[in-house]
Amino acid sequence: FRGEKPFQPVARSQYPQPKLLEQRPTELLTLTPWLAPIVSEGTFDPELLRLIYQPLNLTVGLTVFAVGKYLGFVQHFLESAEQFFMQGYRVSYYVFTDAPAAVPRVPLGPGRVLRVLPVQSHARWEEVSMRRMEAISRHIAQRAHREVDYLFCVDVDMVFRNPWGPETLGDLVAAIHPGYYAAPRREFPYERRHVSTAFVADGEGDFYYGGAVFGGRVDRVYEFARGCHMAILADKANGVMAAWQEESHLNRRFISHKPTKVLSPEYIWDDRKPRPPDLKLIRFSTLDKNTQWLRS
Ligand code: UDP
Ligand code: MN
Repeated sequence: FRGEKPFQPVARSQYPQPKLLEQRPTELLTLTPWLAPIVSEGTFDPELLRLIYQPLNLTVGLTVFAVGKYLGFVQHFLESAEQFFMQGYRVSYYVFTDAPAAVPRVPLGPGRVLRVLPVQSHARWEEVSMRRMEAISRHIAQRAHREVDYLFCVDVDMVFRNPWGPETLGDLVAAIHPGYYAAPRREFPYERRHVSTAFVADGEGDFYYGGAVFGGRVDRVYEFARGCHMAILADKANGVMAAWQEESHLNRRFISHKPTKVLSPEYIWDDRKPRPPDLKLIRFSTLDKNTQWLRS
């Protein structure tokens, strides 16, 4: 595994002193009850993180699926990622598609590469979406484990609007869904039927995480995606599809396999929602898309 690199000492540098007794840097919760940081604007010093992470010469992978009509999102997605995603680091984009020749060739910065991977298309959009867990885990085992230290897996119907940097790196990373960060957990749209392996009981659950963003160290992402895929297969054998497909399985798994870092909804917003005052900025957001057309 590539990721086992010791932190290097931070070279002589000046940055604001951390103060134990000072006011909280943000109104948002900054630490989960299992002591994972919750990342939002104000909780980290980007300059200090740059000094720590840049010497490690890390490569960060980013997977997206663009099957069928979703190919239309790739250009805007990649252009925005070139502007904001892991600027100054080595990046490998992995675009999974049923139409490799049609993937737009967006000009990439130095140290950044695009790899196009063929996948099968499926008649139902739910199937395309769920099959991502299988394709991601297989791809890591076959290839990505040698090519990247960290891997993020995201939806393609989204754009970057502000910097996404090394503050997001962690062993296993989840993002809090923009629709449910203020909701009590009994209202989370978990799979509630016992017949599904994604079943979550009342009184269980931490945050409701979005299926559109997860990541971490590439070996941990492998275990995670494979675990979700196995649970999806078990359901399939019983003729069951979870309430929110792979998002339900992802949420089930994050209850027992806690993320070591949690991203605030800054990292997984939705253009169809107004930005609430609690969020200082939006870094990555779902476009206001024509869902009916996309799924027909
Ligand atoms: N996707 C795709 N083709 C499809 C359906 C889904 O490529 O026909 C991929 C695409 O990356 C998309 C993701 O699966 O962003 C999840 O689907 P979608 O964004 O429609 O789900 P939602 O975010 O609306 O729950
Ligand atoms: Mn989406």
